[in-house]
Amino acid sequence: VPKTCRVITAETIAKNLLQEVRETLATIQESGSGEPTLAAFLANGDPHAVKYAEWSKKTCEDNGFKFDLRNVDKELLEEEIMKANEEEGVDGIIVYYPIFPKNPTHDKYVQETVSLSKDVEGMRFQHLHNMYHNIRFLDPPENRKKSILPCTPLACVKILEYLQIYNPILAVGNRLYGKTITVINRSEVNGRPLAALLANDGATVYSVDVTGVQLFTRGQGIKQPRHKVEDKEGWGLEQVLPLSDVIIAGVPVESYKVPTELIREGAVCINFASHRNFDGPAVKEKASIYVPSVGKVTIAILLRNLVRLIANRPAKDAS
Ligand code: NAD
Repeated sequence: VPKTCRVITAETIAKNLLQEVRETLATIQESGSGEPTLAAFLANGDPHAVKYAEWSKKTCEDNGFKFDLRNVDKELLEEEIMKANEEEGVDGIIVYYPIFPKNPTHDKYVQETVSLSKDVEGMRFQHLHNMYHNIRFLDPPENRKKSILPCTPLACVKILEYLQIYNPILAVGNRLYGKTITVINRSEVNGRPLAALLANDGATVYSVDVTGVQLFTRGQGIKQPRHKVEDKEGWGLEQVLPLSDVIIAGVPVESYKVPTELIREGAVCINFASHRNFDGPAVKEKASIYVPSVGKVTIAILLRNLVRLIANRPAKDAS
């Protein structure tokens, strides 16, 4: 009897994306230009960030990109980013957060220092605003420059495309119509943008965090051009998990586990936290598909965004 649950690794999904990234790069790269370069700023000494940077470096180098890691003092970071904004040899900039964990507004300020044309993480206000408003281009009405989406939320979208949760029979932009998805995490960098992206693509999304549940949808018959948000007073996982075709968890707590008994039979379960939010053996008895981590897909998206930034630049005058 074949196993009922398929475990799909991030590596498998990332491989396909990296192939696409290399092909796109080959079509847009001007002859004689060197390897595209990602400047990565490490200013917090966080061991998780160091690990993530090491992985990113390896993936960059394996795929024809240069990863330029810059260890800087947090008090000099703003100046260093401003310099990198001007450097011709730098195509994209990533900064590892948090830098000022006691003051998230300060991190937000640093994020805004990165030039829009080098914001590989999609964290500048303009990029986020476009995402929340379901505006896919930076230059309407020409629509030649695609807006950049944040890496982990976009990685989750690409995973759902790979798993064929996105239905290609439907029009682009509506391909999650009819799907119910729970996202456990509503941080500004991961869970909230993810809920918005999925709802903008037509899903009914329950966004869960420590403060409660919110419903993100494009309204009855997905007639609205972008999602709206509604508080679901008194709701919790008990209400939303049994309704969900897909459950995406990103709770940064070692002991946290999504209650397996509430998961619908045959649901798709995806974990993006660095901790295992699902009880592995038990979830395999309940889910149809289980994706235990997404980190490698996130790095593939980072390179995809970098290629997109290069494609968005005005072509150099050939004369
Ligand atoms: P965060 O601390 O900013 O946000 C955590 C969110 O989880 C908040 O919305 C919080 O309310 C919610 N939460 C916490 N406990 C909860 C509970 N018991 N029930 C419901 N909600 C709960 O964290 P973050 O920056 O969003 O990162 C989340 C996780 O994702 C971390 O483990 C991080 O390492 C990981 N991460 C992974 C990738 C990747 O590519 N795989 C990328 C970025 C972050």
